[in-house]
Amino acid sequence: MGEKRIILILVIILLLIMGKLFRGDIFEPTMQSDTIEDSAIEVEKTKQEVKQEAKQEAKQETKQEVKQETKQEETVKKEDSAEIAHKEEYMELYPDMYVKSSAKIPLAAIDTNVLDYRKYIFKYPMSDIQSDKKVAYLTFDDGPSENTRKVLEILKKYNIKATFFMIAGSVTPERYDLIKEMIDQGHVVGIHTYSHNYKKIYASVKDYLDDFYLAYTRMYEVTGVQPIVFRFPGGSYNKYMKGIRKQVMAEMERRGFTYYDWQVSAEDSIGKPTRASITRNVLKDLKRYRKPIILLHDSSVNKATVQSLETIIQTIKEEGYTFDTVDKR
Ligand SMILES: [Zn+2]
Repeated sequence: MGEKRIILILVIILLLIMGKLFRGDIFEPTMQSDTIEDSAIEVEKTKQEVKQEAKQEAKQETKQEVKQETKQEETVKKEDSAEIAHKEEYMELYPDMYVKSSAKIPLAAIDTNVLDYRKYIFKYPMSDIQSDKKVAYLTFDDGPSENTRKVLEILKKYNIKATFFMIAGSVTPERYDLIKEMIDQGHVVGIHTYSHNYKKIYASVKDYLDDFYLAYTRMYEVTGVQPIVFRFPGGSYNKYMKGIRKQVMAEMERRGFTYYDWQVSAEDSIGKPTRASITRNVLKDLKRYRKPIILLHDSSVNKATVQSLETIIQTIKEEGYTFDTVDKR
């Protein structure tokens, strides 16, 4: 009896197996519908994996960014403390070179690096954007020269006041009257430098002050007015100043002087500027600002600047700007 049962069971099992074989269940266990479902699940899985990976990557990137920022800040802090550590030695220099500052806000240069630009934003919250008046500030670097007379005539014709950042070394006796005229006409005469020799003036804080003192005394003697505004040769973020920048800035601020960079550059001292290129360069960036400080040059090579000046002034006026000197900004 027992044997028969076992045989019967075996036969049934055999039949079941054969049936399955016949339908192909065993060797092809996945039917088509299953395949679709499975692949849908796979796709979902992959999607989630990709999402997770992207998340992780983003996390890592943020971490790296934070790290980098902290590093940059640390470097700045280090620079600061290193500079503060030995700032006393030049503070004793030139006790007669102090002014009562009337200027308000120094303006960051257009070529600031990102970190310093951020600092600038925090320090000077967007007065430019908040202002409703449109005022353009024409500034002329590297004068005086044989072009200066012509520049003054044009400014007079349009009744415009401008700012001149002078190379005091070029302010020779035969030009004293010209400089006095500038003051009489309401222009602001500021300091650019005495020598305009980047390597020399930016060699140390003392070297910078030495050059500035020569310029300061010359301009003060000639005009009878304390020059309180100035512009760093190359702008305040030039590479020659690296390492002494903060010291120089702090020292000049302590003495009451205010520096001005620019937002709009005529690019008239680079390459071979033409009337067209100068005009184009000024007008291309002008409209981005309500109070643009415009960089032009007044050295003997800048004939094209003089030639384009009227067109520049007319167009700026047509755009709805008035003109003033930087100390009024
Ligand atoms: Zn210059």
